[in-house]
Amino acid sequence: MNIKEYFASLFTGIHSLIKGMEVTGKELVTPKVTEQYPENRSTLKIPDRFRATLQFIYDEQGSHKCIACKSCERNCPNGTIKIQTRMVDLPNGKKKMKLDKYIYDLGSCTFCNLCVSSCPTSAIEFSNDFEQAVFTREALVKQLNYLPEKDEPAPAPAPAKAEETKVAPKAEKSEETKVAPAKDEETKVAKPQATNQENKETK
Ligand code: SF4
Ligand code: SF4
Repeated sequence: MNIKEYFASLFTGIHSLIKGMEVTGKELVTPKVTEQYPENRSTLKIPDRFRATLQFIYDEQGSHKCIACKSCERNCPNGTIKIQTRMVDLPNGKKKMKLDKYIYDLGSCTFCNLCVSSCPTSAIEFSNDFEQAVFTREALVKQLNYLPEKDEPAPAPAPAKAEETKVAPKAEKSEETKVAPAKDEETKVAKPQATNQENKETK
């Protein structure tokens, strides 16, 4: 290496060092994005659409909309959902399949959302509650229908009598209207006979 090459290499190294320090200096004054979890738990904002865990949607009366159709179970690509059903006798004498247990394994869920999008009654959704850490894999298997299942309500009495009474007057009226023209026919026939008798008397 001659003296010229030595200085060229030296300046290249210094230039590279200045470039690196330039990036370091910029990041030194840039606002920090690191979250100090769990110290910042009270101010932490998780996006609403973040998929943390599957859950049932219960209303104020403690009812859910799952009809035990198993569409979510069939559409789940990795068998995360297991649905147990039972047949119940309805008050009207028919039978109906009802949900017994809805088992969800958070440990094998890939959060693809296929179960939610395939549900015909919008009975399930993803919660953004991200704090799901547990000590065993078994604890990740959850029963989502945690409230007791409700019985089927008794069927309301059918308003059959009211409909009969509504229909009856219409039938009477229509019969009257059908009979009415017969009188006119009688009168039409009677008049010519009378005129014939009158003609005979005049003769
Ligand atoms: S999000 Fe995907 S993997 Fe998870 S339970 Fe639903 S269908 Fe299965
Ligand atoms: S959660 Fe929806 S798709 Fe799954 S069994 Fe219930 S009604 Fe069917």
